[in-house]
Amino acid sequence: HVTKAFAGKDGNPLEILHSTTLVIGHGERIAIVGPSGSGKSTLLSLLGTLDMPTSGTLAYDGENVADMGEKRRSVLRAARIGFVFQQFHLIATVSALENVMTGLQYTALPRAARREQATEALEQVGLGERLFHKPSQLSGGEQQRVAIARALAKKPDIIFADEPTGALDTDTGHAIIELLMGAADQGASLVVVTHDPSIAARFPRRLHIQDGVVTELG
Ligand code: ATP
Ligand code: MG
Repeated sequence: HVTKAFAGKDGNPLEILHSTTLVIGHGERIAIVGPSGSGKSTLLSLLGTLDMPTSGTLAYDGENVADMGEKRRSVLRAARIGFVFQQFHLIATVSALENVMTGLQYTALPRAARREQATEALEQVGLGERLFHKPSQLSGGEQQRVAIARALAKKPDIIFADEPTGALDTDTGHAIIELLMGAADQGASLVVVTHDPSIAARFPRRLHIQDGVVTELG
């Protein structure tokens, strides 16, 4: 029964996400579709603990996220949750390898071990030959692969991707979904927001949001 309200134009709270009850299983693959402004990113931010619900409970493996405290919540986010965004969100000034290594900072592993894990993740997404390229030296599809490698390097329990193919052409977009599906094959849950019906159709479970109301499709 999660809701989310923001301050509206008049300063009064405006409910953007209405009471939503969802259970996401281990290894489940879910697409979220719906018009612009319907609340997709808001829902994803709540699920990924980037923001807290106004009311209702979010739990990971039965543990209420609100009871965790900021420290444990950061560990949950850093260690168990992977994020991928439409605009890649890479650090422009450092290499692909360094970008992926930032995703492993929480591990407190020695630099050499993080470097090794990051290299493996980049090889997994087909960028073994691009380790030392900076984002500006990579194509959009390659930059998104770096972002996916950063999310995968920690072997997350769940991956949230908000329009991961929105900035890419159709073929590149489908290749990116292929990589995310591959991560789900290895056991991660996968939740992808998409505007593209051909991408949504590839997911066994689809959620539709309209005006902050979530319904199951199919
Ligand atoms: P898009 O497809 O365009 O990305 P979306 O479905 O992801 O849209 P959200 O970003 O979740 O939509 O926004 C849903 C509504 O909540 C919008 O009306 C938006 O203006 C509002 N909203 C989102 N974040 C905030 C905020 N921090 N403060 C106030 N209103 C917000
Ligand atoms: Mg959005």
